[in-house]
Amino acid sequence: MTSTAWSLEDHHDGGATRAPQLRLVHDAVPVDVEAAADAVRALLRALGQDIGSEHLADTPRRVAAAYAELLTSGPFTLTTFPNDDRYDELVLVREVPFRSLCEHHLLPFHGVAHVGYLPAERIVGLSKLARVVEHFSRGLQVQERLTQQIADCLQSNLHARGVAVVLEAEHMCMSLRGIRAAGTRTVTSALRGLHREHAATRAEFFALAGIRH
Ligand SMILES: [Zn+2]
Repeated sequence: MTSTAWSLEDHHDGGATRAPQLRLVHDAVPVDVEAAADAVRALLRALGQDIGSEHLADTPRRVAAAYAELLTSGPFTLTTFPNDDRYDELVLVREVPFRSLCEHHLLPFHGVAHVGYLPAERIVGLSKLARVVEHFSRGLQVQERLTQQIADCLQSNLHARGVAVVLEAEHMCMSLRGIRAAGTRTVTSALRGLHREHAATRAEFFALAGIRH
C-alpha cells in the first residue's frame, strides 16, 4: 500500500496570462470489479456463509461496486482566481461532509471537515474546497494523512498565507468492533503558515469553525 495514491497534474497550457488551473487526478490502478466480486465470494465462503443462497447471489457484485465507488474519484480542476479585491481575512467552509475507508480494516469512517485559508494573491472557488476534501477521501486512508493531504494540496496551490484543516470523524472500526466506542469522534488538524505560527490566527479559525480547543 503506497501512501501516495494521488497525484497533482500540472494543467497549465503555457500561456502566461491564463489563470493557473490544477487538475487533480487519482492515479490508483483501476478497480477490476469482476476480480473483486470473485474475491468477495471467496471471502463469504471463508467466513462460513452460504454463497449458494439466493439472498447472497448478487452480494459479491454489489460489494465490489460499493468498494469501487469508495476507492475512486473523478478528476477535477482546482481553478483559482486573482484576488483582485485584496480580500485578506479568513475564508472558511464549515462542516463539509466526507466519507472514507480506513486502510487498516476496510471499514468506513465519516464525518465533517472544516477548511479555511488566508488568501494571498489568489482565491479558489468555494465549492472546490469541498471537492478537495472529496478527492482525497476517496481511497484507503487514515484520518491523519487525509487531513494533511487536504492542507498540503491547498497550501501548495493557493500559496495562501495560512491554511487550516480540521476533520472530525467517527470510525466504524472503533464503533462496531474492538472497543465499540459508538459515537466517538476523532479530531485531527493540519495547520500551515500563519495558522501554525500565529496563535490568534489559529484561535480565530477554531472559534469560527465552532471547534472547542
Ligand atoms: Zn480502522
